[in-house]
Amino acid sequence: MKQQPIYFDNNATTRVAPEVLEAMLPFLRESWGNPSSIYGFGRQLVKPLEAAREKVAALINAEPREIIFTSGGTESVNSAIQSTLTMQPQKRHVVTTAVEHSATIKFCAHLQKLGFDVTLLPVDSDGRLDVRLLEQSIRPDTAMVSVMWANNETGVLFPIEEIAEICRRKKVLFHTDAVQAPGKLKIDVKDSGADFLSLSAHKLHGPKGVGLLYVKRGVKYQPYVIGGGQENGRRGGTENVAGIVGFGRAAELAVAHLDEANTRLRALRDKLENGILDNVSGVVRNGSLDTRLPNTSNLSFEGVEAEGVLLLLDEQGICASSGSACTSGSLDPSHVLLAMGCGSARARASVRFSLGIYNTEAEVDFVLKQLPPIITKLRVYSGKTSSKNP
Ligand code: PLP
Repeated sequence: MKQQPIYFDNNATTRVAPEVLEAMLPFLRESWGNPSSIYGFGRQLVKPLEAAREKVAALINAEPREIIFTSGGTESVNSAIQSTLTMQPQKRHVVTTAVEHSATIKFCAHLQKLGFDVTLLPVDSDGRLDVRLLEQSIRPDTAMVSVMWANNETGVLFPIEEIAEICRRKKVLFHTDAVQAPGKLKIDVKDSGADFLSLSAHKLHGPKGVGLLYVKRGVKYQPYVIGGGQENGRRGGTENVAGIVGFGRAAELAVAHLDEANTRLRALRDKLENGILDNVSGVVRNGSLDTRLPNTSNLSFEGVEAEGVLLLLDEQGICASSGSACTSGSLDPSHVLLAMGCGSARARASVRFSLGIYNTEAEVDFVLKQLPPIITKLRVYSGKTSSKNP
């Protein structure tokens, strides 16, 4: 088997936990029936499906009937917004932020083409949102406010409870894209007060292609994917049984790993970040220092293109990223960093390290050893040398 990489890109996706794989295998090998079948071979799958629903519900303190399984974060986000607009045809305005994942931003751009009105709220230079601006942007025809729980590029957190309270007061439905939160932060839908919440299994050591949409009890929902009567008529399509079972197991592990994320992982992230800031000149952190996920560090390296850094890190077997995976591969600077006022050069020079429970101190030490000469080399090529890392 190919050697595993030194993986610092856990906000893009995560390794499937061995426990998750173990839980899934019987549903790929032996119990591969269709849960909607009349015969026992298929019907027997309803039980593990519902057990998984209970586990993911427990992760966010929801009731199992408030969970709709989907194909992932993107579908969940699209479905929440689409449902809200369909259920309130007289309301044609959506409020969101300029730093959302493309699942929201691009869906909203699509809505604009269809004639809906979208407000993209700005953020400050630390990536934080002014909730007063959010409140002012809500109009009588606003159908929904959608704000992410944590930003995937910078890790910056948003004041979800405060936003939910404003939405409740203004009688506007509130969706939060919480894809980056589980396993790193405690999610409690009762405390948060959101009407809709989206999650994706592959960000918490579960498989790809499965996610959930939480719809608060009593909130009206119009299915987005229409087909068979699966998910209580709320999402058509034969259930991804193995994926859903894996998601359930991953949810249990995420609860179990929460403390570790906030102690060991946070310490590793800080060691990596401080080590880079101390040993490489011309490095700035992007995003708030305190109000952010414990695993994420987004840094800009003056005078270099992130692409070059990532390629040279890759040669050493190290995986990192320049913003969201969905935009890497294109040379466009990150819309998140541009919205924070970073400017194009700083945005293009930004590298995101996102840690996970499988990272070790030895891996952090390895990156701290490999990175300074890479930056020096790239600066020499571009004619920008520095005294701190000759
Ligand atoms: N929302 C956020 C904040 C994300 O980070 C991602 C994935 O990168 C998504 C949504 C999309 O999730 P999925 O890949 O499951 O469609």
